Amino acid sequence: MYPEDDYIQLSSLQHYMFCPRQCGLIHVAGLWEENRFTARGRVLHERVDSGEEEMRGEAHVVRSLNIYSRIYGISGRADVVEFRDQHGVIVPYPVEYKSGKPKPDARDLVQLCAQALCLEEMLNIKVTEAALFYGKTRHRVKADITEELRETTIQAISAVHEMVRTRTVPDGRYMKKCESCSLYDACMPKLGERKMNQYIRGLFDFHEAAP
Ligand code: SF4
Repeated sequence: MYPEDDYIQLSSLQHYMFCPRQCGLIHVAGLWEENRFTARGRVLHERVDSGEEEMRGEAHVVRSLNIYSRIYGISGRADVVEFRDQHGVIVPYPVEYKSGKPKPDARDLVQLCAQALCLEEMLNIKVTEAALFYGKTRHRVKADITEELRETTIQAISAVHEMVRTRTVPDGRYMKKCESCSLYDACMPKLGERKMNQYIRGLFDFHEAAP
């Protein structure tokens, strides 16, 4: 069990799966920059974060639900949770909204699975299915919460906890996806490793010296 002060944000898992260095820059060094991708996501979430509840067919739909797991030390908000009646048992079905399109990696799935882990612990019920809604393609992709996905998610959770505990910002190197990273300017991925580490040390010195 993790104390509440040590909880990491659900969003940190998506950052970690995109790039461990990006995760470290945001969740250890405290940097954040908006670009056109993050702005699009923020606008979509502002629409989803209305906090409204409604009945949609047989499902009770709750938006912007605060969720957490003491076992894994994670917390955040689920965009939408549909509570569905399955043969007399009410089962939560998380739906995460993403502004873009389906990704070639598991970053969205891991964040979704972490939501499932939270809901399982909070409600003491197994979550086997969930979905991602993509704003660009405007369609839902169903996701099975498989054992393999759970393992990947739990490994990512452990890695982010370790990064935050040790205040480590991993090294980075230039990749094609750096071009879509909101922290490109702060990260400077084309610089040599030594210069990057000097830069990060300078950031910590600045934060510690600030009143
Ligand atoms: S610019 Fe590239 S290496 Fe740097 S944080 Fe972003 S994705 Fe990672």
